[in-house]
Amino acid sequence: MTDEEITEQTAETKQLARLKAVTFDELDAFYEEMGTENTCNICGSDVWTHVGDGEGPVSLRLPAFNRDTAFALAFVIHCNKCGHMRFTIGSTLLDWLQNREHQ
Ligand SMILES: [Zn+2]
Repeated sequence: MTDEEITEQTAETKQLARLKAVTFDELDAFYEEMGTENTCNICGSDVWTHVGDGEGPVSLRLPAFNRDTAFALAFVIHCNKCGHMRFTIGSTLLDWLQNREHQ
């Protein structure tokens, strides 16, 4: 493994660790800024719930079909009335968090 590959792998590990540590408060701030928590486009309700548990938000691992080890992480909220789910890709959330943390 080259130094460049090791550096890349270390950066990826740090990013994954940061995504694992995301809190409900951080997600709420992100959704508020992005306007994600507006009316459900299926039923019109405006009550959403995070997918998560007592430890915090759960990120879903979405494996790629055509790339052996590739995957995407997504955070999810669902409409309380009809169950419609909204996915936010982890990389966008991570960029937003990193911008916020470096300001
Ligand atoms: Zn709905």
